[in-house]
Amino acid sequence: MLTITIGKVARAVGRRLGRGSVLPGRIALALDRHLLAKFTLPAVVIAITGSGGKTTTSSLLRDAASNAGLKVVSNAEGSNMAPGIATALIQASDRHGRVPGDVAILECEERHCQYLFPDLRPGFVVITNLSRDQVARNGYPQFVAGEIAKALTPAMTLLLNVDDPLVNALGRDGRVIPFSVEADALREPAGVPHRADDSLCPNCGLALDYDYRIIGNLGRYHCGHCGYQAPAPQHSVSAVVGTELVIDDDYRAAPQIMNPAFAYNILAAYVGLVEAMGVTPQAAADGLTHKDVKNALQDRVMTFQMGEHRGVFLLSKHENTLTYNVSLRTIADSAERGYTLGVMLHRVSRKYFAGDVSWLWDIDWEVLAKNPPAKVLLGGRFANDIAVRLVAAGIDQDIIEVDLSLDGYMDLLRRQSQGTIFFLTGFEDIDQFTSRLRKDEQ
Ligand SMILES: [Zn+2]
Repeated sequence: MLTITIGKVARAVGRRLGRGSVLPGRIALALDRHLLAKFTLPAVVIAITGSGGKTTTSSLLRDAASNAGLKVVSNAEGSNMAPGIATALIQASDRHGRVPGDVAILECEERHCQYLFPDLRPGFVVITNLSRDQVARNGYPQFVAGEIAKALTPAMTLLLNVDDPLVNALGRDGRVIPFSVEADALREPAGVPHRADDSLCPNCGLALDYDYRIIGNLGRYHCGHCGYQAPAPQHSVSAVVGTELVIDDDYRAAPQIMNPAFAYNILAAYVGLVEAMGVTPQAAADGLTHKDVKNALQDRVMTFQMGEHRGVFLLSKHENTLTYNVSLRTIADSAERGYTLGVMLHRVSRKYFAGDVSWLWDIDWEVLAKNPPAKVLLGGRFANDIAVRLVAAGIDQDIIEVDLSLDGYMDLLRRQSQGTIFFLTGFEDIDQFTSRLRKDEQ
């Protein structure tokens, strides 16, 4: 317990130094490697992991659980590795390491689950999806699936997005609650090429056949060779009515934005509320539609003004095919004719230097053929790489303009945009864009 006290002191010091996020946890873990096992956690511990949607799902769960009257502890402010989780628990606990509350909602980095779970012993594990994400750092989804598998025990109840064939394969041992997005309205139109995510059967390694896809590798699949397929889901988004998702045929939740990624996030949070926290389905759906929950999603899609042009900002993740595919589909489905597509790629990663942009070729830019832009403006160090990819995807070369410098790119957007600007970039570059936008407004 001394370590927890030292952690609390480190937190107080860290705050004064202005770096409160993971320092206390890092110090305390250096003193006790198994610090996380020393806390007395709330009765319900739910871990959220996967390649994408962890943060959004965790934030939805946290807000909806609070709205349903539960007291929640989470690592919302810190990182999703041991130091961030330790810092959050140090902050929430008393001197004896007791963490009060009804539920601990812990976002866990997918390759670190094997180190976190033996000490945290989550009773419930939500797995969102496994798609290509930061290949230079994470390797392939099949590898990540193997890393997660090392962390799972039969004592855990697994809440699995079984639309993902690799996630489904993790459910072989222990209790599984499968969930799925089935709504017709969210299905991907046929004919989208899947360069990266044409999934292989986790059982026999041959290509899977899809009845339909929701997005990327997520959908209804079966293996023509060995018969591998997902079980019938216990919970599903069964339809879309107006601006609402219909869950389990009876309950309505209104996402801030209607797209397949949010449908999965909302459904995962709903399943967590109902299955892990004992919230009634109605209260779960209501909790997920509450205005505080909507605010939690606001930073993913923002609007801005650039001179006379309205801008719609769609935040994606560099090196992550799925997030770009969701953003592009939103544009293809919702942009009015005569719009401008802006894409900025300057820094590939915040974590390491990476000059590899081969992932641009995995993204389904081809969906833009359905609703092509009038103008394409590309910025940042890797703007020419995007240009080459877009020409290969059938975009007319004559409508593309490029500026490698960020200040020059802002000028380009101001001078050359037509109609609404749909602007895409990653977490890694967002600050560069928004700080220049703010300077503009002053
Ligand atoms: Zn097979």
